[in-house]
Amino acid sequence: MIKLRRQSLVAYGKPLCETVAECPIPRGSEVLIRVACCGVCHSDLHVQDGYFTLAGDKKLDITKDRVLPFTLGHEIAGVIEAAGDEAEGAAVGRHVAVYPWIGCRRCAACRAGEENMCSAHHHLGIAADGGFATHVLVPHPRYLLDYTPLSPSFAGPLMCSGLTAYGALRRLTDRASRGPVMLIGLGGVGMMGLTLARTLFSEPPIVADIDAEKRKAALAAGAGQAFDPADPQARKAVMAATGGLFSVCDFVGSEKSLQFSTGVLARGGKVVVTGLLGGNFSIAAAMIAIKAITIEGSLTGTLSQARELTELARAGKISPIPIQTRPLDQAQAALADLRAGRVVGRTVLAA
Ligand SMILES: [Zn+2]
Ligand SMILES: [Zn+2]
Repeated sequence: MIKLRRQSLVAYGKPLCETVAECPIPRGSEVLIRVACCGVCHSDLHVQDGYFTLAGDKKLDITKDRVLPFTLGHEIAGVIEAAGDEAEGAAVGRHVAVYPWIGCRRCAACRAGEENMCSAHHHLGIAADGGFATHVLVPHPRYLLDYTPLSPSFAGPLMCSGLTAYGALRRLTDRASRGPVMLIGLGGVGMMGLTLARTLFSEPPIVADIDAEKRKAALAAGAGQAFDPADPQARKAVMAATGGLFSVCDFVGSEKSLQFSTGVLARGGKVVVTGLLGGNFSIAAAMIAIKAITIEGSLTGTLSQARELTELARAGKISPIPIQTRPLDQAQAALADLRAGRVVGRTVLAA
């Protein structure tokens, strides 16, 4: 019997630790993946905590979604190790990235192809055991994406940080012909957004971040202009430079970032929000109609968008972001570093 070694969440708010179980045997359409690597993501911290911070002391409890011990990790790339007898096309030895946002396939969202928005989801590493492990069980081969000639450490993170940026930018395609897109917040997702925006849109994106180093890195990576949203004159400067923006991506999702992102919109402009930092945001209600603005949330992306994104990457149209690889048994240390803000780019755990 193969052993399944996992870095498990055994109690909320506590460090991960290794647990060992029998490796599951795939049945029916199931496929067993031997994990090559799994990216470490900010949302892993929220699952470890068991809550999201909403505003002030208010928290969104997310402990009811899973049974402990539980395996985090949703940015998975690996090799097919075994497959059930109904798993068509799941040839043993095939290198695949795993689309983790797996839905029930019955609800309205799933039927519309938006399994990432499923109301009774089985998202890997969130509700079903994920990739901080030697192996992960995937319910159907449709969720497996070929990634060669990319490295697994590039392909895995595409499924969350890449897809989050891609899904958000795709919500702005109808407005991007009217002027540059602005990207607010230049962490891992924001920097992925920058490289994608340069591929998807004709004009170089404008960026905003409170960190001067990140602005510098973004300009070096092809951003057209960079602004410091903490500067009280920043809004005026953006309006003077652009006349107001039609497309803004807010990768921060805080009171301040939303005030800034809605403040720089032109009439008819749209903000897509993917960030989860938290806080309460208010806006003069009449301004929504007067400026005809749209504020739209975006949660990762669909399976078909994951395929599009992976194909763009395989075609060499996406610059890789910096990746640090650490062994699987350093999962807790990697989470702690991410929590402390000590990480540049993406960390992946190699099983
Ligand atoms: Zn993630
Ligand atoms: Zn569903």
